[in-house]
Amino acid sequence: MNKVVLITGASRGIGGACAKRLARDGYQVVVNYKQNQPAANQVVEEITLQGGKAFAIQTDITNERAVVEMFEQIQSQVGPVTHLVNNAGVLSPQTRVEHMSAQRINDMLTQNVTPYFICAREAIKQMRASGHVERCAIVNVSSAASYLGGANEYVDYAAAKGAIDSFTRGLSLELAAEQIRVNCVRPGLIYTDIHADGGEPNRVDRLAHNLPLQRGGTAEEVANAVAWLLSEEASFATGTFIDLAGGK
Ligand code: NAP
Repeated sequence: MNKVVLITGASRGIGGACAKRLARDGYQVVVNYKQNQPAANQVVEEITLQGGKAFAIQTDITNERAVVEMFEQIQSQVGPVTHLVNNAGVLSPQTRVEHMSAQRINDMLTQNVTPYFICAREAIKQMRASGHVERCAIVNVSSAASYLGGANEYVDYAAAKGAIDSFTRGLSLELAAEQIRVNCVRPGLIYTDIHADGGEPNRVDRLAHNLPLQRGGTAEEVANAVAWLLSEEASFATGTFIDLAGGK
């Protein structure tokens, strides 16, 4: 089977770590990114230097038409997508609910929820066309914020991730009879650039001591769980969640 994995937001952070890990596991990797071409190219270069297969594709996944075109391009370049990691996500500056505008809340959903649906929709079509639908799988990257709530920082983001948890359950049930598995990881306090988007680059260090494990996590630790959920070793797991949040 020609395993083709698309990872959204794979130029940096958790997506970048997933790209490198899945390349080592033998996938043809598609590194999606929004704007940081040098970072995406670096991920691809690292993979190819180690003998893996990868290419980068710039697509803003909030643009439905562009997502459809991205999938068409992947299919014509390397064959149908058989595995999807819905990963790209953003934070807005920290604030409380009483200061949130409708514009901010809608942007949060547009950027963190709708693209997961649209990418899954397009991936499912290609999985069915791959001839190996029963070996196809999706992993959604949610967040521990979905059950912690994000109070005083970003309840909008937490609620968007809550939607991803529901999406995971619902989609897994829709696809279970075809043996397409849909699972979810919920990271918390991982060292990546996303905390700078929230206005606090050093957020992990400020809060890590509160965790039972008393440290922040790495993108590679999340990638390990994503790789397992996508793999045949997780063949009886669907609609389920792995929390990678240091014990919270
Ligand atoms: P990150 O380091 O900020 O990287 C974000 C990635 O998403 C980049 O590759 C970026 O592309 C891409 N991206 C953003 N918007 C996009 C769009 N519209 N279209 C295409 N690509 C887009 O983030 P991260 O921390 O690795 O987060 C990855 C996922 O994990 C997110 O869903 C996040 O909510 C979740 N998560 C993270 C943490 C944490 O502590 N880090 C905890 C829980 C959950 P460019 O490089 O081109 O900008």
